[in-house]
Amino acid sequence: MGTGEFCAACGRTDVELIDGICAECTMDRTTLVRAPKRFNVVVCPTCGARRVGSHWERSGSSRLPTGEDLTPALEAHPEVGIRTVRWEETGSSALLHQYIGRVSLRFRGIEREVAVPLTVKVDHHTCPECSRKSGHYYTAQLQLRGPLDGPREKAGTLRARLDAQWDELMREARADWRTAISWREALPEGWDYFLVNTMAARSLARLAQRRLAAEMKESATLYGRKDGQDLYRVTICVRIPPSRREAAGSS
Ligand SMILES: [Zn+2]
Ligand SMILES: [Zn+2]
Repeated sequence: MGTGEFCAACGRTDVELIDGICAECTMDRTTLVRAPKRFNVVVCPTCGARRVGSHWERSGSSRLPTGEDLTPALEAHPEVGIRTVRWEETGSSALLHQYIGRVSLRFRGIEREVAVPLTVKVDHHTCPECSRKSGHYYTAQLQLRGPLDGPREKAGTLRARLDAQWDELMREARADWRTAISWREALPEGWDYFLVNTMAARSLARLAQRRLAAEMKESATLYGRKDGQDLYRVTICVRIPPSRREAAGSS
């Protein structure tokens, strides 16, 4: 300032310049906030919980998207500080909702409001908690875990690893084994898969044993009687060690 320099875009001389351009002009030429083309919100139709990554939260929320769902979709320029966002619904069909986000932001000391359009698809999935409460039917529970004597793994890392190995297994699994899987739950110690077919659960566990050097242990619990017969649910614990490739990479 005061050196006779001027903004290459607007010619002002009384403002601070970065790369020869003032902040106002930089703002005009920069995408300050953007939203993805399509954004999904997964809602449990029974309790309103949201699926965020692999877990569920905010049970009891509105079934319709709220600011809490929409604002995380925004991607801001690294120098932008978002102060507030006001969402206005501009249109909706059964599952698609259109919004305009009025974003109040700050960039290099200057405040501005930017309008960001966002289209949201709402997916309805019953959450594990509601599945359980509704007596969702299953006959076998497959517990994916790390090895008992293996290195300690953080919950997120462990689940991601088991997930990748499970995906690998799914490519080899028979279609009827895959369709026997009703739902799954994320736990700190791994994943629980709930299946409607005990034979399919055993087959998947054996496949993990062969392909991933997993250890399996089966137990049964009595959960009721039907037509004079005891009903059992089978729990199979499958302990999957890290693959050799991963084990080599981490050492
Ligand atoms: Zn300028
Ligand atoms: Zn629910």
